[in-house]
Amino acid sequence: MRRPILAGNWKMNTCRESARALASALAEQVPASRDDVEVIVCPPAVYLETVLAAASGSGLQVGGQNSSDQEPGAFTGETACEMLTDLGCSSVIIGHSERRQFYGECDSVVNSKTKKALASGLKAIVCVGELLDQREAGKTKAVLESQMTGSLADLSVEDMANVVIAYEPVWAIGTGKVASNEQAEEAHACLRTWLEGRFNSDVAAATRILYGGSVKPDNAAGLLSQPNVDGALVGGASLKPELFIPIIDAGAATVA
Ligand code: PEP
Repeated sequence: MRRPILAGNWKMNTCRESARALASALAEQVPASRDDVEVIVCPPAVYLETVLAAASGSGLQVGGQNSSDQEPGAFTGETACEMLTDLGCSSVIIGHSERRQFYGECDSVVNSKTKKALASGLKAIVCVGELLDQREAGKTKAVLESQMTGSLADLSVEDMANVVIAYEPVWAIGTGKVASNEQAEEAHACLRTWLEGRFNSDVAAATRILYGGSVKPDNAAGLLSQPNVDGALVGGASLKPELFIPIIDAGAATVA
C-alpha cells in the first residue's frame, strides 16, 4: 500500500503573513496522528522558518523547492541541503520543470542534486514530464525514460526508499490544461515499469508517483483514483486552503 502524498509547491508566492496563515490552516487539517496521507508544503526558502513554526506539533511536513548539490560554502544565492535539514524540512523538490526551463537544470544536474538531497537525509521529489510538442510527436515514453535514466543515475535500491517521482507534463503546469485520467495513468504506469526494469519489482511497487499539472478540487478525485497515481504535486491550488484541503480529502478518499 502506497500512502498518498499531497504536496503543495507555493513557487515564488506568499508573503510572511500569508505563508503563516496558509500553513496554520493546513496544519489544522493534518494533526500529528494523521496517517492516511502525507501532506507536504514547499514555501519559498525565506519563509521556511515561518511555515515550520506554524506547522510545529502537527503532521504537516515542510520541504524546499530547490536545493544545491554542493556542500555549504561559497555559492551565492544557493540553499544547502544541510540548511533544509537544519531547519527541520523533510523533503525537497528537485528538477521542477520551471528549474529545468528557466535555470537550465538538465538531468545530470537533477541527478547530482538528488544524490546530495538523499545523502543529507531529505526525501527527494524528482520531477519529470514531457513538453507539448514531445507528446504530440509521440515521444512521451522516450522522454520520460530518458529523464528517469539521467535523473536517477547511480541511485541504489536503498536510495529509492527516499525518492518520490512527480510526473508533471509541462503543458499542464499552470495552464489549466489537465492531463486526462487516462493520460496520467498511462504515463505513471510507464514510469512504474521503468522503475521495475531499472531497480526491481519491490521498488516499483513501493515508489510513490505523484501527478502534477493543474490539479484542482474538481479533477483531483479522478486523477488520484488511478491505480498508479499516488498523490499530487499541486501549484496554484495549493495556495488556497479552500482548494488544497479538498485535494487532500480526495487523496484520503482513495485509502478510506
Ligand atoms: C507545479 O508547479 O508543480 C504545478 C503542478 O502547478 P499547477 O498545479 O499550478 O499546474
